[in-house]
Amino acid sequence: MRALCYHGKKDIRCDNVPDPKIEDGRDAIIKVSSCAICGSDLHLFDGFMPGMMKGDIVGHEFMGEVVEVGRDNKKLKVGDRVVVPFTICCGECDQCRRGNFSVCERSNRNKDVADKLFGHTTAGLFGYTHLTGGYAGGQAEYVRVPFADVAPVKVPNGLTDEQVLFLGDIFPTGWQAAVQCDIQPTDTVAIWGAGPVGQFAIRSALLLGAKQVVCIDHVPERLAMARAGGAITIDFDNESVLERLAELTQGKGPEKCIDAVGMEAHATRSIDSMYDRAKQALMLETDRAHVLREMIYVCRPAGVLSIPGVYGGLLDKIPFGALMNKGLTVRTGQTHVNRWAEDLLHRIEEGQIDPSFVITHTVGLEQGPEMYTTFRDKQDGCIKVVLKP
Ligand code: NAD
Ligand code: ZN
Ligand code: ZN
Repeated sequence: MRALCYHGKKDIRCDNVPDPKIEDGRDAIIKVSSCAICGSDLHLFDGFMPGMMKGDIVGHEFMGEVVEVGRDNKKLKVGDRVVVPFTICCGECDQCRRGNFSVCERSNRNKDVADKLFGHTTAGLFGYTHLTGGYAGGQAEYVRVPFADVAPVKVPNGLTDEQVLFLGDIFPTGWQAAVQCDIQPTDTVAIWGAGPVGQFAIRSALLLGAKQVVCIDHVPERLAMARAGGAITIDFDNESVLERLAELTQGKGPEKCIDAVGMEAHATRSIDSMYDRAKQALMLETDRAHVLREMIYVCRPAGVLSIPGVYGGLLDKIPFGALMNKGLTVRTGQTHVNRWAEDLLHRIEEGQIDPSFVITHTVGLEQGPEMYTTFRDKQDGCIKVVLKP
């Protein structure tokens, strides 16, 4: 079969590889009808996430048709149409039973390495480094889904792939980011990043009743999409984020702040970005913390910082004194996709939201490698890429 494979930094190729096989009775094999490139894939592509190996199949946002099921799998049948959450979960461990699916204690095959690195293991993820299990990903014609009797979400035929595909990652991610803010009707929610995750965070914050949503980025078409979704926007190339947020909140600061940017933050008007780039290049820190510093500084005391943006390792110069003295709450994590997916599917069916608004590019799998660059560099108005294997 064809699959997008990692061959090193900035080197993704469409290769011919062996078809996946059932390895465990609970597995299923999915024939992928649509998959997408996620902002998290860019961290691999740019070489900032450790633990990738040559030949690894990438991709963790995918859906398709069940073509084979293991003998112990009582949930799926051949022919079922499913969206597969990017977090692999066993459904039985203590964390899964509490709904903390992204920290499943049993799905990471390389648990020992994760235990050492983070103190505890986190869940296995599709196509996302050997630290999270080294599982083959979904930017491929076929995928083996482990524990396939737990996470896959059956979707009705009346909805298109484009409407439901993002239930596996970015829609619940934006939603969880907003839910973690405990939004009150008087709240201003400030969202850094107008990429796909930021776009879903905007719409989720409004669905959850925020008074005002402000979105910060510097890419004109992303800011335009944010405004179309109901946000007020700030262009950080041309405006002071701190001044504009103060103006929009009568000097109080936003009550809730969402980081939908993560470890590769840019900063045009501040010195700390140069500092971070230099330290990141010299491997003295792994992540650029500009957005976190800005959120801690600007957030209203007793407010919440919600961080879906992915970080990999060690961050420098975090103003912890401000965080502590202002009494801020920090909430973060890989998304517990299955906690939200069924509810969000119903919201799509009811017409509260149509997630396909975010798609700007639809191409065949062979064009995937060039699309990584188009998406990363925001060429050609690219906001979200869907690949058709
Ligand atoms: P993306 O790269 O398309 O979007 C990031 C956006 O941030 C870009 O539009 C960029 O211009 C903007 N940006 C950069 N520096 C900024 C700054 N200083 N201030 C404001 N905006 C800035 O990616 P995406 O798909 O939207 O993903 C966003 C983040 O969410 C990534 O870190 C990704 O890894 C993460 N993510 C997390 C989860 C999870 O489970 N927690 C799931 C999916 C994605
Ligand atoms: Zn993702
Ligand atoms: Zn589990």
